[in-house]
Amino acid sequence: MKRDYYEILEVQKTATAAEIKKAYRKQALKYHPDKNPGDKHAEENFKLAAEAYEVLSDENKRAQYDRFGHAAFEGGMGGGGFSMDDIFSQFGDIFGGHFSGNFGGFSGFGGGSQQVYVKGENLRIRVKVTLEDVVKGTEKKIKVRRKVKAEDTTYKTCPTCNGRGQVVRQVNTMLGMMQTASTCTACGGTGEVIDKRGADTDSQGLKTVEETISINIPAGVMEGVQLSMSGKGNEAPVKNSVPGDLLILIEEQEHETLKREGDNLHYDLYISFPEAVLGATKEIETVTGKVRIKLEEGIQSGKILRLRGKGIPNLQGRATGDLIVHVNVWTPKHLNDEQKAFFKKMQEDEHFSPKPDKNDKSFFEKVKEMFS
Ligand SMILES: [Zn+2]
Repeated sequence: MKRDYYEILEVQKTATAAEIKKAYRKQALKYHPDKNPGDKHAEENFKLAAEAYEVLSDENKRAQYDRFGHAAFEGGMGGGGFSMDDIFSQFGDIFGGHFSGNFGGFSGFGGGSQQVYVKGENLRIRVKVTLEDVVKGTEKKIKVRRKVKAEDTTYKTCPTCNGRGQVVRQVNTMLGMMQTASTCTACGGTGEVIDKRGADTDSQGLKTVEETISINIPAGVMEGVQLSMSGKGNEAPVKNSVPGDLLILIEEQEHETLKREGDNLHYDLYISFPEAVLGATKEIETVTGKVRIKLEEGIQSGKILRLRGKGIPNLQGRATGDLIVHVNVWTPKHLNDEQKAFFKKMQEDEHFSPKPDKNDKSFFEKVKEMFS
């Protein structure tokens, strides 16, 4: 028969937290190993007091103990679950530094209880984003089907390990009987199993619900980036658990006219032959609105214009990318006789034959310059 924790600490069942602390301190000092060297009885009482205090000083554990008695922790920590070192490391503040000395000579008493928290499964979804979303960042409301605990599913202490989460086996070895502990396979180490499955639940006692989850998508995300929302995945089918995460894989949709390359955007601008000759002001549709650019007269096809900061914000907070405009001179294909005559006349004029100067860099040079 295990002794009552209140009795061990010599307090009333209605004792306050302060009274329990004071009572434990009294017991601990009385049976302290420094005061009772070699006294096995004192050592046992010292440990019992620590065990009682461990439960009664914890609001949840005390409530469980009040309801179920020692059965609440069956197999969990009874029978000297503490080593001396545990006691001093856990409740050292109680002693106020009086007994900081030598506790050698007291060996550990082996496995204490271990609370295992199980994490539910992660959920994975794909979210499509447009280039507008990427540039501005956005919030998307997505319907997610996730598994949650059902209110009418009940749990009980695992009968295989008595709630301990571990199964201890006696093994006969050359050195004699040895104990080995392994995680209980019946409850996965949580110490509890399903007692009764609720209505409309799966084999794990979970039900599937559809939830609308608001997902914050930061500016600068790109294809293949995975965002994570902790706790928005499936719940686990045990009480001692935390839900899994919701993993959001970004799928970037292609823009009609703007091509993305890292944080830069590329745009192909087509201008007419007269516009190239005479110069022009052109309006370009970017993600954040229209931008006007001025083309000098005599602009060459293949010219690259860089609009700084008109690209995509950097996900890591570096400088926003640029919008790179590639100028292409559009050459008409089918001309009537009159138009052909016009260009034939031009062809005869020496002024129209190409004479590239040093400032007219080749396409290769321009590309080299862009990436340097
Ligand atoms: Zn178990």
